[in-house]
Amino acid sequence: AAASQLAALDASKLSITKTTTPKEVIPPKELVFGKTFTDHMLCIEWTAEDGWHEPRITPYQNFSMDPATCVFHYAFECFEGMKAYKDKNGQVRLFRPDKNMARLNKSSARIALPNFDGEALIKMMGEMVKLDSRFVPEGRGYSLYLRPTMIGTQKTLGVGPPGSALLFVIASPVGPYYPTGFKAISLEATDYAVRAWPGGVGDKKLGANYAPCVVPQLQASSRGFQQNLWLFGEEEYVTESGTMNLFIAVKNKETGQKELVTPPLDGTILEGVTRDSILGLARERLVPKGWAVSERKMRMSEVVEASEEGRLLEVFGAGTAAIVSPVRKISYKGNLVDCGLKENEEAGEIALSMKNWIEDIQYGDEEHQWSYRV
Ligand code: PMP
Repeated sequence: AAASQLAALDASKLSITKTTTPKEVIPPKELVFGKTFTDHMLCIEWTAEDGWHEPRITPYQNFSMDPATCVFHYAFECFEGMKAYKDKNGQVRLFRPDKNMARLNKSSARIALPNFDGEALIKMMGEMVKLDSRFVPEGRGYSLYLRPTMIGTQKTLGVGPPGSALLFVIASPVGPYYPTGFKAISLEATDYAVRAWPGGVGDKKLGANYAPCVVPQLQASSRGFQQNLWLFGEEEYVTESGTMNLFIAVKNKETGQKELVTPPLDGTILEGVTRDSILGLARERLVPKGWAVSERKMRMSEVVEASEEGRLLEVFGAGTAAIVSPVRKISYKGNLVDCGLKENEEAGEIALSMKNWIEDIQYGDEEHQWSYRV
């Protein structure tokens, strides 16, 4: 069929089949990330002949797939991670869902999977979240994690563009990343493995990017560090920490000006939605207070030097899971680099402000264009 005859993703064609065996809602305090799921899922098939088929919300259920299905062999898989939040009036909200849709479309295009109308998927996820809204836990830090996923479903061992695909969304209720308040983590700088490289796919959210990161993470963890810090190249540029973007607050050596730095989107880091939100808020709320905000490369040696000279103010990771994750120390070439937190402190001032500002918007306590009511 010519491209013009291919059906677009159409939210008005959504059908809903409700479960006849509703699950019990787990008490919020007992939630474990990604372990339990809601009653329903959203599924949309795509074929090269017809385009997007009719979207369906169905009871959460297993897939049945031929062992030759291309996702199992060549990793035709990409995904998103985003959350639904319940505000104080019980209204459920998404946070900048358009960003996740744009990123998923970039990821799918890179692995020869189809693109889709992001607004249509947001609408349908909204329907699913409303149907399963009893699973959205209430309170700050609590949310419903949404996992939009696209896979190639063609049955073939031939390496080529999949002639069929499946876009689906599942949802898992989650509790706060730090149930007892912030807990600063320590990182191990990884120089023996590389997560991403220029011209590679580290800036896409492909499942294939994640499996190879587990061993370096285990290595760091076996030596007592909660996450690893990915360094890149002979210059040892800092890039990301585990599955979070990285922010570093330093005082300028000459002028003493405070600067919030994050590595640039040069293809070696994921375009985090939290990263973009922190940059936006920093430009709006920190720059008027005299801060500089920079997307620039930073060598590990610059971090070490700032630390030694007492100019390293804060280091924190940023991502949907925790919003911000303060860093106390970085293990680097056998030394521990102090990241500026006082001994009795679990988070710096910037990390704390960012967490509060972003949560205010996510939970609807501050009305903001980034909050989307389902
Ligand atoms: N980097 C990587 C490698 C990630 O997997 C994630 C989580 N999606 C992030 C950064 C943070 O992105 P976001 O703020 O969109 O969650």
